[in-house]
Amino acid sequence: MKKYDSAVQLIDTHCHVIHMIDKSSIQAFSNNEIQEIRKILHQAALKNVTHMIEIGTTRIDSALALEIAKLFEQVSAVVGMHPHEAQRDYHKDLDYIKKLLASHNQKIVGVGECGLDKHYPGYNITAQIDLFKAHIELALEYNKALVVHTRDAQDETYAVLEQYKQDLTRVVIHCYSNDLQFAQAVTSWGWFLGIGGTITYPKNNLLRDIVKTIGIEHIVLETDAPFLPPQTIRGKKNSPDHTSTIAEFVAHITDRSLEHVALVSTRNAKKLFNLEQLA
Ligand SMILES: [Zn+2]
Repeated sequence: MKKYDSAVQLIDTHCHVIHMIDKSSIQAFSNNEIQEIRKILHQAALKNVTHMIEIGTTRIDSALALEIAKLFEQVSAVVGMHPHEAQRDYHKDLDYIKKLLASHNQKIVGVGECGLDKHYPGYNITAQIDLFKAHIELALEYNKALVVHTRDAQDETYAVLEQYKQDLTRVVIHCYSNDLQFAQAVTSWGWFLGIGGTITYPKNNLLRDIVKTIGIEHIVLETDAPFLPPQTIRGKKNSPDHTSTIAEFVAHITDRSLEHVALVSTRNAKKLFNLEQLA
């Protein structure tokens, strides 16, 4: 096991602790659930992951993200709806997301994950675009970071984002899976690429090349836990402590020290989510 300098600090910019503990109702956390979360955060701290961003994908897990963030100092919340939610009548849920934002709770640091996804058949791209734009407007109105999910929808995502490139300043393209040209465009607008477990997958030379070309100055680290486990634990449940696995891997492929990758990616994450006040 690698021994870290205690000054090394990592931020997991995208996780779903709610799904790690299989919580799917809006009821208050039980003592058991709180213990489980505490364990996850402790595991992460042992790997120098000192802060985590819990990401909403529905009305319910957005509300729960805020609850976790209220309970634990080392967690911040992002609230919003995944593009899959555009398949049903989402308006009531969107109103709920607006209410969460209107509470002006300081632990809400972003809007998302929102965006476009054409991976599974049955999508309604028009509704997805409407829902995506509604989230962008909310991020602007409340001055929050925008967490973008885009899968198999590069051109459509670009067309939407391009319209807002002047106004939006704090944006991450989570679980980056688009091409180099897209990466060059969004990073030239000052936005970040979210890099996680998929960079360790043997077939993913494209993403490794993109990170080497773009440079770590434009990336933040994420696990997307419990999803997308890095290659070393493929098939198992992912967890925020694996931010360190991603950091080590990025250090290796970019020929930088782990300390440097941690320093730069954490600085980027703080800038992205306005977390400069964190120790
Ligand atoms: Zn996610």
